[in-house]
Amino acid sequence: NEATSKNFIEQAIEKDLAEGVYDTVHTRFPPEPNGYLHIGHAKSILLNYGLAQKYHGKFNMRFDDTNPTKEKIEFVESIKADIQWLGADWEDRLFFASDYFDQMYEAAVKLIKKGKAYVCDLNAEQIREYRGTLTEPGKESPYRNRSVEENLQLFEEMRDGKYADGEKVLRAKIDMASPNINMRDPIIYRVAHITHHNTGDKWCIYPMYDFAHPIEDAIEGITHSICTLEFEDHRPLYDWVVRELEYPHPPRQIEFAKLYLTNVVTGKRYIKKLVEEGIVDGWDDPRLVSIAALRRRGFTPESIKMFVDLCGISKSQSSVDYAMLEYCIREDLKLKKPRLMAVLDPIKLVIDNYPEGQVEYLDAANNLENEELGSRKIPFCRELYIERDDFMEEPPKKYFRLFPGNEVRLMHAYFVKCESFVKDENGKVIEVHCTYDPETKAGSGFTGRKVKGTIHWVPASYAIEAQVRLYENIIDEEKGVYNEDGSLNLNPNSLTVVDHAYLEPAFEGSKAYDSFQFVRNGFFCVDAKDSTPEKLVFNRIVSLKSSFKL
Ligand code: ATP
Ligand code: MG
Ligand code: MG
Repeated sequence: NEATSKNFIEQAIEKDLAEGVYDTVHTRFPPEPNGYLHIGHAKSILLNYGLAQKYHGKFNMRFDDTNPTKEKIEFVESIKADIQWLGADWEDRLFFASDYFDQMYEAAVKLIKKGKAYVCDLNAEQIREYRGTLTEPGKESPYRNRSVEENLQLFEEMRDGKYADGEKVLRAKIDMASPNINMRDPIIYRVAHITHHNTGDKWCIYPMYDFAHPIEDAIEGITHSICTLEFEDHRPLYDWVVRELEYPHPPRQIEFAKLYLTNVVTGKRYIKKLVEEGIVDGWDDPRLVSIAALRRRGFTPESIKMFVDLCGISKSQSSVDYAMLEYCIREDLKLKKPRLMAVLDPIKLVIDNYPEGQVEYLDAANNLENEELGSRKIPFCRELYIERDDFMEEPPKKYFRLFPGNEVRLMHAYFVKCESFVKDENGKVIEVHCTYDPETKAGSGFTGRKVKGTIHWVPASYAIEAQVRLYENIIDEEKGVYNEDGSLNLNPNSLTVVDHAYLEPAFEGSKAYDSFQFVRNGFFCVDAKDSTPEKLVFNRIVSLKSSFKL
C-alpha cells in the first residue's frame, strides 16, 4: 500500500533510530548557487524537508558555495525564493559552506598531521595518468612520502599564495590500488586565485566537493546526508573523511535516483543555451521546468508535492511522464478554482430575437463541484462571442454544436437555434445568427425538450480582451531530444500566442498568479511578468483532457 509503506530511506532512518545510531533526524538541502532550481531539486527539497518533519527533526538550508568559479549571488536569492515557495521552512538554519573554510583548512591540517594527506606537485594530466583505470591499479605519486613537516609547510605556502593555480594540490593519502578510483589519493584542496562571492580574496585555495561536503554535514550535525545516485561510489570517501577527522557523531550518506521527466530539459547547460539564444524568455519561461517557470506557468506547491509523492523514492533510474505532472495540477485546481468562460478563437453570435440594447444578469455557480466558491452574475445580451469551432456550416456526424437548424444550450443561459450565418469575401464565416427561446432559461426547470450540445460564450460588449499563451513541450521526444549535430530538437509549436481572446467580466481585476478554469479550455494563470491591468496575459497551465490515468 503506497500510503502506508515506507520508502528505503525511511526504513534506513527508522533502523538507525531503533539501534541508537542516531537519536534524532537532521537533514539538509545543499544546492550549489550556480543556476536556478528545477523540478528535480524540488524532489530533493521536499524529500529532505519531509523527512525532518516526519521524524520531528531539523532541516538545514545550506549553500554549497565552495567552488567560486561558477557561483553567483543572484542564484542565492532565486534559490531561497523557490524553496520558500515550495514551503520547506529552514527557520533560522540558513548556512553557507564558505563560512566553514577555516574549519576545512584545519581539517586538512589535521589529516596532514596524521600522515593522511600530502602536497603533490604532479600536474592535472599526470595525476590523471597515475590514477589508473577500472582494470588497472593506480601508481603512487613520487611526492606521496613527503614528511609531515614538509607537507605542513607546503600547504601553508599554498594558502599564502606562493603557488600558481594547478602548481600544487593537497591529496588524501588513501590507496592507489583501491578498486574504487575515488579512493586513489583524491585531491582535497586546490590552488585557485579567484575572488569568492562570500569570502572575497581571503582564500586562494579551495576544498574539493568530496572533502568539503562531509565536513559541512558533520559541522552542522546532519545525520542523514541524502544525495543522488551518482555519488554512490563516492560514499567510501565520504566515510573516510568523517572517520579520519574523528567526528563524534559522523553523518551518513544515502543515495536515491534522480528525477527525470520525459520531453523536458532540466540540464542547466541546455536551459542556459535556450535562454542565451532567445528561444525562451528567461529561466522562468513557462515552458521550462525550473521551479520559477513552474510557478509562473501556474503550478502550485501542492501540485508539485503531490507529483513528487507519486514518483516515490527509488534506487533505480527512470523517467516520469510529464503527463503525470499535469495530472497533479489538474487534481489540485479542479475544486479550488472558479470555472469561468473565455473564448480563445472568437466568432460573433447574434441573437436576432433578443432586443437590441437589452441586458439581463444571469446567475452562474463559480464551480458546480464546490459551492464554497459562490456564484456570479453574467450579463447576457444580443451579441456574444463563441468559439469558432463551435459552429460548422457542414457538420460531420456526431457534431452536436451549432450548425444551421441545430439548437444548443448556451451555458448558464438559454437554448439558441442557428438560423443563418454570414461570410466575408474570402468565404470565412464571421457571424452566426440564432434565435433564443425565453422558456429555456437555465435554472427555470424547463423540460420541454433536450439539446445535445452546450457551448460557452462571452457577452460581446462586456468582454475583456486578453492575450492567452498556449504551450506544448519544448522538446518532441518522439523525434529524439537531440539532433545529429548535438543541438536540441525543438518543437516549433511549443508556444502559440492568442492575441485577442475574450473573457467574461468576472475576470476583471485578476492579478499575477491568479488561476482559473476556462471552461472547456483548461486551467490558466495570469502571467506574472507580462500581464497588466489594461491587457491581461494568461498562460495555459494545462488542458482539461488527460492522457494520464492513476
Ligand atoms: P550541478 O552539478 O549541475 O550543479 P545539481 O543539479 O546536482 O548539478 P546541486 O546544486 O548540487 O546541483 O543540487 C542540489 C541537490 O539537488 C543535490 O543534493 C542533488 O543531488 C539534488 N538534485 C539535483 N538534481 C536532481 C534531480 N534531477 N532529482 C533529484 N534530486 C536532484
Ligand atoms: Mg545545482
Ligand atoms: Mg552539483
